Amino acid sequence: MESKKILIIEDEKTISDIIQFNLTKEGFEVETAYDGKDGLEKALNGKPDLILLDLMLPLMDGFQVCKRVREVSNVPILMLTAKEEEVDKVLGLELGADDYITKPFGMRELIARIKANIRRVDLMSSMQSAPSNVKEFGNLTIDLNRYEIRKNGQVLELTLREFELLKYLAERENRVFSREQLLEEVWGYEYYGDIRTVDVTVRRLREKLEDDSSNPQYIMTKRGIGYYFKRP
Ligand code: CA
Repeated sequence: MESKKILIIEDEKTISDIIQFNLTKEGFEVETAYDGKDGLEKALNGKPDLILLDLMLPLMDGFQVCKRVREVSNVPILMLTAKEEEVDKVLGLELGADDYITKPFGMRELIARIKANIRRVDLMSSMQSAPSNVKEFGNLTIDLNRYEIRKNGQVLELTLREFELLKYLAERENRVFSREQLLEEVWGYEYYGDIRTVDVTVRRLREKLEDDSSNPQYIMTKRGIGYYFKRP
């Protein structure tokens, strides 16, 4: 298998070095940047398979870098956050980061997260050549195998995670799932995340799918319990 390329954008050289050492040992190809500007340039030109992105960086912070990369690319971005308050900010800003990990983190956990995020992308590209499996729900058509969704014939741009959540719920119409269940089923057991991640993803999905995201017709909230998908 061709080795995957990870771009580390982190200004603390000791942290960057230790991550680089461990990822190289795991067989990854590693590129490093020590400030946001250089990081953005390498992210756009270096075709990494995944980006590890620190938040507080000289010249351009991680929020800006994430936003700019997302304008042109769906490469998985794993945010490195220093404290809990930053997690709130990452979730609140809805930058389109795929995942985050709070410092200090263990190398095994970091590597597990990197592999899980890369696996999802590989899965997605293999899905695109799969036979179609189109289901219609009102004015939405969802190709469950090819990860493609259209509303009134127009393709919607969903992130992989948004699609996986939608697919999971749509294949189980009218069944209510708690946020904990969704985190475990859609994000995977390895994910030590926060249930707010589910709420943020639901909110983003609604903004894309619904005519009026404050009055959803597809992804419904069961108060005090969780979410379910309904045919309108
Ligand atoms: Ca930093």
